[in-house]
Amino acid sequence: MVNIKTEENPSGLKDLDEQPIHILSQIQPHGVLLVLEEPSLRILQVSSNVESILGISTEIILHKYLEDLLDPFQMERIEIGLKQDSLDFINPTKIWIRIKGDDYVIFDGIFHRNSSGYLILELEPTTSQESIPFLSFYHLAKISINQLESSSSLIDFCQIIVQEVRKITGFDRVMLYKFDLDGHGEVIAEEKREEMEPYLGLHYPASDIPKPARKMFSSNWIRLIPDAATELVQLFPEINPISHQPTDLTYSILRSASPCHLQYLHNMGVGSSLTISLIKEGKLWGLIACHHLTPKYVSYELRKACEFLGRVIFSELSEREDTEDYDYRIQLNQIQSALIDAMSQAENFIDGLTQHQPNLLDLTSAQGAAIYFGGKFTLVGETPPETDLILLVQWLQKQNQKEVFYTNSLPKLYSDAQGFKAIGSGLLAISISHKNYVIWFRPEVIQTVKWGGNPHQAFETSQAEGQVLLSPRKSFEQWKETLRLQSLPWKQVEIQAALELRKTLINIVLKQADELAQLAHDLELSNSDLKKFAYVASHDLQEPLNQVVNYVQLLEMRYHQALDDDAKQFINYAVEGVSLMQTLIDDILAYSKVDMQRIEFQFTEVQTALDRALINLRKRIAENQATITYDPMPNVLGDGTQLMQLFQNLIANAIKFRSAKSPEIHIGVKRIEEAWLFSVEDNGIGIDLQFAERIFIIFQRLHTRDEYPGTGMGLAICKKIIECHRGKIWVESKLGQGSTFYFTIPVGGREGERRNGRKI
Ligand code: ADP
Repeated sequence: MVNIKTEENPSGLKDLDEQPIHILSQIQPHGVLLVLEEPSLRILQVSSNVESILGISTEIILHKYLEDLLDPFQMERIEIGLKQDSLDFINPTKIWIRIKGDDYVIFDGIFHRNSSGYLILELEPTTSQESIPFLSFYHLAKISINQLESSSSLIDFCQIIVQEVRKITGFDRVMLYKFDLDGHGEVIAEEKREEMEPYLGLHYPASDIPKPARKMFSSNWIRLIPDAATELVQLFPEINPISHQPTDLTYSILRSASPCHLQYLHNMGVGSSLTISLIKEGKLWGLIACHHLTPKYVSYELRKACEFLGRVIFSELSEREDTEDYDYRIQLNQIQSALIDAMSQAENFIDGLTQHQPNLLDLTSAQGAAIYFGGKFTLVGETPPETDLILLVQWLQKQNQKEVFYTNSLPKLYSDAQGFKAIGSGLLAISISHKNYVIWFRPEVIQTVKWGGNPHQAFETSQAEGQVLLSPRKSFEQWKETLRLQSLPWKQVEIQAALELRKTLINIVLKQADELAQLAHDLELSNSDLKKFAYVASHDLQEPLNQVVNYVQLLEMRYHQALDDDAKQFINYAVEGVSLMQTLIDDILAYSKVDMQRIEFQFTEVQTALDRALINLRKRIAENQATITYDPMPNVLGDGTQLMQLFQNLIANAIKFRSAKSPEIHIGVKRIEEAWLFSVEDNGIGIDLQFAERIFIIFQRLHTRDEYPGTGMGLAICKKIIECHRGKIWVESKLGQGSTFYFTIPVGGREGERRNGRKI
């Protein structure tokens, strides 16, 4: 039992995970442990049972060297062995120690060096009858392996392991535990005495094997507790006299199990135990646990044989486990190729993933999937509704998992998922680029698990003398639990397939970004061509035009008398034509000047822009006796000059396309979500709505110049200005009843656009 102070540790349970069991300076009493200083082999510490086993008192032995205990012949062998790279060559060494007279005790001596470099010699009594000759052991291993080859399933494999281990060790019960991802263990194979209650299929909570014990199992592949009920013996002195630290006994074979573990075995009715670790890729995959009802000693050689057998068979087994997934992996690879094919043929990758068979769902055996890309969801199969998905994506972003995130119990991590547990208890998500995800869902699968005792009461506490005594549960009676809010777990191959898809998608997205950048570059080039053209049109074309006007007017002045009325009229037409052409050129120039890069986005008072436009138009307003009213104008992020031009064009049109009534024009504004919505409303002739789009195209007009003068550039310029401000422009009208031109300007202006990740 573990004594834990109440005030520091109300629950007590956590401490179990932190108990440093490797430095407990206690060992099991069936052998003797000596801590030696090298190279002198002076005895620094000794287990206090030395007196009862060797008949030498601890005080006396602590002044001795190893050579004082052994004869020179043995010492010579040991000294040679200790110089070898691996101590495996001398382990075990038969060691004779004279007790008195000609009485010798024979031990299996096992040496190792601990983390601080001290040599540790452990003496275990030799039980010669149990040692198995190499050849018969080889024979045994061969039979087992032959059997393995003919069995097909993983479970059959495990069954053979427990059978063989029981056969050679003679334990009452041999079980094979496999650990789940969450650390709890399940008995997947068992071989036992017939009358014993079966444990096969039972689950044991992760806390049954606390963290330090797991660590020990990973570094120490075989552990024997020959008598779980025995009194432990202390090292003497308790602290290493040179380092003044407890001696690290991680690799000691005699080291005592933690008191709590001994209690656990006792509560289970186990008299002795042997545990063999099964390690896969550096992690504790499972354990072979051998239990005997009474104390049982297994010789070092036999233990090593079991360890070897366990390792050989387990390496076969883990290979078989990998190949079990092999066929599935091949199948997923084929689906992956089909998806890549579909993506390359589809208009965009999302269609490729969702519109064909096989689709995204097949890649991970999911029931539903959602692609979140560019702020939009595309859904396949059974998924939570978009309103839930938006919040889920925000939660995922906070998890800070770079490539992949998966769980088979989302509601336990994210409580909102309880609302869609039937569809999304399992989640697997990959991030494709900043804030974009592919998410797969699996439904809840309600399972019944048989536990070897109530897992929620794995430990019991009792109060004694102001301390909490913590001990493992006494009852190992079967306890059934219904597991909810869980899906079937995601297999490693499925997670791998999702990661492969992620790589492909990232490449596609990057390629698209490259193509967009190329497109932007091309556009920039053609824009600059257009600018050059505008420059040529304004300067170089103006020049000859002026020349034409000048000479035609000179002609008229000089030869006024000689010209008849027709000739004078022709000259007038020519001058008018040239002046229209000059206006057209000016308008093209004005259009080409509306250029994103030249806009100075800053907080602009819209009122000022409107006032300037009204000043420019004051003559026309007065001539037409137009009434102009407006709402209070906001400040926006934008370019004041362009806004002035925008208002000027729209108000000029409202006056120009007036009806018989005197023009009444209202400029309105209101806030809609993230934008300002402006309107310019008139009571003019109106527009047939079938032309509503056309009028915004350059040079498009609905009337002849005789009816209404103009070039057809005004609204095209307005549209370009609004596009530069990332807004929209449109018209609503009824022929004969006036028109309203609407346009929006985002509240955040250019900054808002940056936040949305678009390049401007
Ligand atoms: P312009 O005014 O030089 O003709 P615009 O591009 O400004 O060129 O307008 C295109 C056409 O849209 C106009 O020719 C006219 O037919 C129609 N239009 C524009 N504004 C109005 C309005 N307020 N009322 C009626 N029609 C309009």
